[in-house]
Amino acid sequence: MAVKPSGQEPFISKSKFLSGLQCHKLLWHAFNAKDLIPEPNAATAAIFQQGHEVGALAQQMFLDGVEIGGGIYDYDETSRLTQKALKLRKPLFEAAFVANGGFCRVDILQPAPQGAWDIIEVKTTTSLKDVQLENLGFQVWVLAMAGLKIRRCFLCHINPDFVRQGEINPKKFFVLEDVTDRAANLGQIVEDKLDDMFKTIRQRQPPDIKIGPHCDDPYPCALHDVCWKFLPKHSVLDLYRGTQKGFALFDQGITLLKHIPGDIKLTDNQAIQRATAVTGKPRINKQAISKFLGRLEYPLHFLDFETIGTAIPLFDGVRPYQQVPFQFSLHIVRAPGAKPQHVMFLAEGRHDPRPEFMLKLRDNIGHTGSIVAFNAAFELERLRECCEVMPNFSTWLKDIEGRVVDLLDPFRSFDYYHPDQQGSASMKAVLPALTGKGYEGLAIQEGGMASREFLRVTFGDVPEAERQQVRKHLEEYCGQDTEGMIWIVEALRKLAG
Ligand code: SF4
Repeated sequence: MAVKPSGQEPFISKSKFLSGLQCHKLLWHAFNAKDLIPEPNAATAAIFQQGHEVGALAQQMFLDGVEIGGGIYDYDETSRLTQKALKLRKPLFEAAFVANGGFCRVDILQPAPQGAWDIIEVKTTTSLKDVQLENLGFQVWVLAMAGLKIRRCFLCHINPDFVRQGEINPKKFFVLEDVTDRAANLGQIVEDKLDDMFKTIRQRQPPDIKIGPHCDDPYPCALHDVCWKFLPKHSVLDLYRGTQKGFALFDQGITLLKHIPGDIKLTDNQAIQRATAVTGKPRINKQAISKFLGRLEYPLHFLDFETIGTAIPLFDGVRPYQQVPFQFSLHIVRAPGAKPQHVMFLAEGRHDPRPEFMLKLRDNIGHTGSIVAFNAAFELERLRECCEVMPNFSTWLKDIEGRVVDLLDPFRSFDYYHPDQQGSASMKAVLPALTGKGYEGLAIQEGGMASREFLRVTFGDVPEAERQQVRKHLEEYCGQDTEGMIWIVEALRKLAG
């Protein structure tokens, strides 16, 4: 059935269509209760910004390209400008089309022979995802309804094998994948789905849709906090590596971990979660904790890195999204009960931080004693990547690898598990549950924020006083991570007796 929006009804844009594919409740709110949808947070805003930067780089492949209605968001005006620009037969950026209730702006529209056009959708991912095909299918349908002849459609995503060397050549940075057959065949599906979406947005009340795995797939939903706020603490959705099982229990009306019946099959760690939810007390495997602590040799080096991983690499020898370390905190405890010594590195300036980072780390990590990191695989991988471009550090890395102890181990194995960890073995969950201390009061409270703030004050136009303030916050945050590890080891020692 053809889509027939009423006169007053808005068009469904590309982004709203994708919201509707994820959840009709989200779509309904986007049209009828927009004020209930929280503004994008800093992390989401940074993703949008990255998308703009990648899009601008892709446009550089089309030197005679024409931008349509930059900064104009009005449907009619951008569509009118597009109709005028189509006559130029040049690559068009952000061309706008409205037809049969659908509205879209095409990243790049490239002229093809015989009056046809190719659609190019630019993506910040390094591979093709299903949702991107649906997005393209929507555009093909809208453009076809608008009377355009489409020859081929492409997804322009980032080449995962790209390594920066000097100026970025967009033709090497991107991969153009021809997805014409898969996207163009979605026409009828798009039409049917759009029809359903119009029915939903015309309803007086939001559809009654339960929370589910779709709340985070393919994107974390903007209404997540609103829809999930009724959930009590210690719910079945906290099950460790048990998303599907948690939702299955939830659908049966079992909300709390402590109410999971004994005959439900759980993994060992999930069974520990249920048991601790019943008693409200932590699980402590003294023997295993003692064994873990026996691996620690003084002097203890508590180590943590902060990294940046941008879609467009900032430095030579870096791949898209590669995590480049810009900061470390190292607390050294030379003997039991000794006062920790603190060494920090925080990159200064816009150049590649890795050579100075590696030198300072090598000079301070010593030749003996354990190197303790939380989820040490992350730190080790960063060091290996640094050695790929600075092979002179390879022998040193080989020498220290055997000294590395992962403080995550006793928590990943649930040899210690506190119900307040809520199914997580991360440092942010473990530290307060085990020691009562946390990150409150710190201006920077998680790694993503540290990364964004470092980029902002290093590469952005930020007043000097603010830049120094943020650098102080970064030092406090990273320092708290390694000091927190000392507290965790102390707490484990007390538990092990
Ligand atoms: S949180 Fe889940 S149920 Fe609520 S609107 Fe989003 S996807 Fe739908």
